[in-house]
Amino acid sequence: MTSRTDYDVLIVGGGIAGLQAAIDIGDQGYRVLVVEKEPSIGGKMIALSKVFPTLDCASCICTPRMAEAAHHDNVTIMTYAEVASIERSDGFFSARVIQKPRFVRERNCIGCRKCEYVCPVDVPDEFEGNLGARKAIYIPFTNAIPQVALLDIDNCIRCGRCETVCPADAIEYDQQPEEKTLSFGAVVLTTGYELSPMNTKPEYRGDELVNVLNPLQVERLLAPHGPYGRVLRPSDGKMPESVAYVLCAGSRDKSIGVPYCSRICCMAAIKQAILLSGALPLVDITIFYMDIRAFGKGYEQFYQNAKSMGIEFVKGKVAKINEDDEHNPIVRVEVQEGESRVEERKFDMVVLMQASLPGWCPSGVCAVETSEDGFLTRKAPHSSPALTTMEGVFTAGAAAGPKDIPDTIAEAGSAAMETVLYLRSLGVEPGTESAAQEVSR
Ligand SMILES: Cc1cc2nc3c(=O)[nH]c(=O)nc-3n(C[C@H](O)[C@H](O)[C@H](O)COP(=O)(O)OP(=O)(O)OC[C@H]3O[C@@H](n4cnc5c(N)ncnc54)[C@H](O)[C@@H]3O)c2cc1C
Ligand code: SF4
Ligand code: SF4
Repeated sequence: MTSRTDYDVLIVGGGIAGLQAAIDIGDQGYRVLVVEKEPSIGGKMIALSKVFPTLDCASCICTPRMAEAAHHDNVTIMTYAEVASIERSDGFFSARVIQKPRFVRERNCIGCRKCEYVCPVDVPDEFEGNLGARKAIYIPFTNAIPQVALLDIDNCIRCGRCETVCPADAIEYDQQPEEKTLSFGAVVLTTGYELSPMNTKPEYRGDELVNVLNPLQVERLLAPHGPYGRVLRPSDGKMPESVAYVLCAGSRDKSIGVPYCSRICCMAAIKQAILLSGALPLVDITIFYMDIRAFGKGYEQFYQNAKSMGIEFVKGKVAKINEDDEHNPIVRVEVQEGESRVEERKFDMVVLMQASLPGWCPSGVCAVETSEDGFLTRKAPHSSPALTTMEGVFTAGAAAGPKDIPDTIAEAGSAAMETVLYLRSLGVEPGTESAAQEVSR
């Protein structure tokens, strides 16, 4: 018996894991739909400055993959869309996908940005970690895909200027969400991670102190097209002369429900310290750590290089952060080197290396299992990393646990291979002319 599905594969999440899996599955002739909840694909990687340990430019690696996926004959991308449910029956998957309103007709918009230039409303720019400003109608960032504007209806004052200036009749103030139910042969979950909130450890006052930043904000400060064009601290635009990193600021701490190691924070902090030393030649950088976990290829050498550059590593537990009258953060730390002692040290800027939390909670959406830490459960510790506990549902990247980019890309290849093998086992052949595929049951 046969029936038809709209696409062979649903990929939920258009970060580097989802894009790589989409390209690899699409290359095998299968038709893929990528659903991304943000207005652009690219995930966290597209906002990074450079990547450890090579210090290659992150967007130079990520942008071509975004473009390749977007232009792939077998890959369709829906951005600013969410999957409301995924159900499995008789070997097929049926998913309800909700297209959120952009208040801009996607088909009409030519990405000219004329609307942005005339919009009178300034709002903190989420892509820049809220350090810069964007307009109420905007394209999320320079190399966003798609290059389509998005109108932030909550901040729009309905002045009508964007509508007047738009050459493509693209503005649609009363656009509504659209729901579609689509069918698939297999599903790949690549929903990544989110950083823990800045107030997870209230004693660090991360949500109150203006010069206490999260590491994704520092990635933007270091990026060539970042919010200020160079590294300046938010309170007064001064070039920081001393910066501290607090590692495990939310990881390996049972009291806040995150007992696990977030894996990438040590290396991300070391990378940023090296980059800051280049951007600010006179800066002193201190990294407060419990243990340094330099687990990947070339990572230990990267750590040793940072030490030989003069970056100070202090083994100690940060107890508290306060600030003086000029917003200089003051770190109270229990130093655990030699004779243990408590010190208070003042810095121009402090960076909290927060925990990586699961980017998506499947409960209510899909019956796939998660582990105690909230990340997707793998079928078995020694099976392929792509297998979940649900037949036909695969995963890659940080959706199953915090992970660096090389491991994420390797897992995406594995997820693509497992997905293709699974479709073949169902008798689904690639290369059918239309998006609808024959699936044997
Ligand atoms: C400060 C910092 C610096 C880093 N630097 C490096 C580095 O130098 N080198 C390195 O190797 N790694 C680095 N990393 C790690 C890197 O960010 C991750 O390895 C990588 O982003 C994982 O990719 P991913 O696609 O699995 O997840 P993500 O990048 O999180 O992408 C997941 C995507 O899924 C989308 N999504 C989530 N839920 C849904 C849903 N329900 N529906 C639709 N879409 C959804 C998200 O919007 C997102 O676009 C760094 C991390 C941090 C925090
Ligand atoms: S109508 Fe709204 S989005 Fe358009 S220009 Fe005016 S404030 Fe900006
Ligand atoms: S909405 Fe109109 S003015 Fe704005 S980028 Fe699109 S085409 Fe240009």
